[in-house]
Amino acid sequence: MKVLVINCGSSSLKYQLIDSDTEAVLAKGLCERIGIEGSCITHNKAGADKQTWTSPMPDHTEAVRLVVEKLTDPEVGAVKSLSEIDAIGHRIVHGGEKFASSVVINDEVIKAIEECNDLAPLHNPANLIGIRACQKIMPNVPMVAVFDTAFHQTMPEKAYLYGLPLKYYKEYKIRRYGFHGTSHDFVSKRAAEILGKKREDLRIIVCHLGNGASVSAVKYGKSVDTSMGMTPLEGLIMGTRSGDIDPAIVDYIAQKENLTFKEVNNILNKKSGVLGLSDGVSSDFRDLAKAAEEVNKAAKTALETYTYHVGKYIGAYTAAMGGVDAVVFTAGVGENDADTRAAIGEYMSFLDTKIDPVKNKVRGEERIISTDDSKVKVLCIPTNEELAIARETVRLV
Ligand code: AMP
Repeated sequence: MKVLVINCGSSSLKYQLIDSDTEAVLAKGLCERIGIEGSCITHNKAGADKQTWTSPMPDHTEAVRLVVEKLTDPEVGAVKSLSEIDAIGHRIVHGGEKFASSVVINDEVIKAIEECNDLAPLHNPANLIGIRACQKIMPNVPMVAVFDTAFHQTMPEKAYLYGLPLKYYKEYKIRRYGFHGTSHDFVSKRAAEILGKKREDLRIIVCHLGNGASVSAVKYGKSVDTSMGMTPLEGLIMGTRSGDIDPAIVDYIAQKENLTFKEVNNILNKKSGVLGLSDGVSSDFRDLAKAAEEVNKAAKTALETYTYHVGKYIGAYTAAMGGVDAVVFTAGVGENDADTRAAIGEYMSFLDTKIDPVKNKVRGEERIISTDDSKVKVLCIPTNEELAIARETVRLV
């Protein structure tokens, strides 16, 4: 089967065409600046060079039309005609409590996703636009929705409830949902395979450390806790997001700086994290490492604070699961940044666990990076959310 995986943002659309039999990526690309001046599409057929075209994209329907045009183009395309695309998998950010697994998209599902818009006002409406655009251009192709939140729906009440008046949960569904679920699921499954064990027999901590970052506790195959909350702002210190802070700080900053809550929220999302902590050096760990080497004190502090927080979560989730068998690093920082992995590894010594400095010299490859005598196995596993979405799509259609 050939599956088109779509990840729609408010002004962007990422896509991959995957052959589900071989799991090979036949083509992939990105539409940017949809609805704004200077829209362009970057398309990459497997084995060929990446190409970029500027083309007006007033809306997502036009973006999908362009994607189809490139995919079926005799020169840069990967299929002869649209009829070769058997199914479409959509990444949907928030499924609320309605979706504990992926579903085939129909009118009822669209309505239920719409009802979760309040919980993810930046993401879900964009995801829905992508679904509708595909419906218009490819009305007969079955579509599946794969939710970022679904994998974490197995969390027990004690992990997902906040210490707030219960009526807020009952009336507004304010609770922890967690995100990056597709990645936490994919990577924990892969870890069990690499270790030659069943996931149902393992307690795994997954550290998804990208620009957005979250840790999850996967106990015997199920997510029992995760660091992101009702929104992706909670938990770890991230590239530009603050992660956990004392909620009273919001009002305090608003008063001191004469800002609205919305403006403070914007600071917490876009100007905080390691970018904010490093006093504006960068949200990118490569820049931070370079600056820290050049004795930039704020960059060094940002990295130390970041790794400390990841270490603390590993400790907390070990307690939550009554032990841990494997810790996995994934996503941009987790897959590529050996120094950050090593620094986090220091906080695992209480578990008689050690990262092997030689094995740790790995970038974007699957590998066990702990020493042979390490009590807990530590692994580096590249995530592949698109492949996970394609697999889910095939499973359902
Ligand atoms: P993601 O959101 O998973 O795409 O991760 C993006 C982040 O990964 C970037 O902002 C960088 O901080 C980090 N990253 C990517 N490559 C490297 C690398 N070679 N070394 C350190 N950090 C990296």
